[in-house]
Amino acid sequence: NAKNMGRQTYCLFQEGMGDKVRLRREMEEDLETAIQDGQFELYYQPRLDLHNGLIASYEALIRWNHPNKGLINPLDFISVAENSGQIIPIGKWVLHSALEAASKDILDARISVNVSPVQFRDNAFVEDVRSAIKDAAISPHRLELEITENFLIEDDARAHTILTNLKSIGVRIALDDFGVGYSSLGYLSRFPFDTIKIDKSFISDADRNPSSSAIIQTVVGLGKALNMAVVAEGVEDLERLQFLAQTGCDEIQGYLVGEPTPIGSLCRLVPAIVKDALETHTRQAHAV
Ligand code: C2E
Ligand code: MG
Ligand code: MG
Ligand code: MG
Repeated sequence: NAKNMGRQTYCLFQEGMGDKVRLRREMEEDLETAIQDGQFELYYQPRLDLHNGLIASYEALIRWNHPNKGLINPLDFISVAENSGQIIPIGKWVLHSALEAASKDILDARISVNVSPVQFRDNAFVEDVRSAIKDAAISPHRLELEITENFLIEDDARAHTILTNLKSIGVRIALDDFGVGYSSLGYLSRFPFDTIKIDKSFISDADRNPSSSAIIQTVVGLGKALNMAVVAEGVEDLERLQFLAQTGCDEIQGYLVGEPTPIGSLCRLVPAIVKDALETHTRQAHAV
């Protein structure tokens, strides 16, 4: 009967909660070991400049080589690390390794580093960025920090101060996953972004859903008006490339240009089919 059902459901729920807490605690312990033993690795994914066909930047994407569980993706552990505060040492490591790669292996392109809101709000963050740049001896303009809208919602004034301090060092700031958070167009005029990254959900949807392609065109227009570079994430096929090139989008990122790859096997060449498609587009654009 209903009463029993209710009790059973409650028991199951309790057990479920217990499991969740236990798994989280287990992961926190594993993360502690991972931090100490250096089980993290950065993969790099290129961003292609549609105006000149060159690789503009590489985005560093963290992976966790778990000794028993294999390769773990960031979405499966970042939120745990954020809640426990472990994202602070992890984020520091990411920043230092990415900048080291930029100074040695990625000789001329920019480097893009994802930053968690928790890290951003840490009092030592701006100084960490400054010293990481100094240690790697690279120009601050080559570093772009990617933040999401979540960073902006809590405390506007503080967010603004941190971003202004970072800009004064000379680093670039990108607004990541634009369009899926608590987006406000006001953010774009109030904060000094250099780059807007349109979330990949709009890109994958663009051929089926006219409103997604309208949104893409609008964001590209906004970027032009506000003097910010617009990047499309998650570009997987040539049709998207052609559409995005037509809209005037500045850069694309996605499996079409290259998957995230360990630094040792990174290919710096733009795939021939991508090059050809871009050349065809440029020819057609000039012919018109
Ligand atoms: P993001 O910064 O928006 O990164 C883009 C994600 O899309 C990456 O997932 C990338 O592998 C994936 N991707 C790239 N091209 C394509 C494509 O053509 N199609 C599809 N379907 N996906 C594509 P990944 O590496 O699993 O990272 C997920 C998220 O985890 C990132 O989203 C970022 O928010 C976060 N993250 C990654 N590395 C770090 C880090 O070092 N620190 C922090 N705080 N967050 C990180
Ligand atoms: Mg990103
Ligand atoms: Mg993104
Ligand atoms: Mg994302």
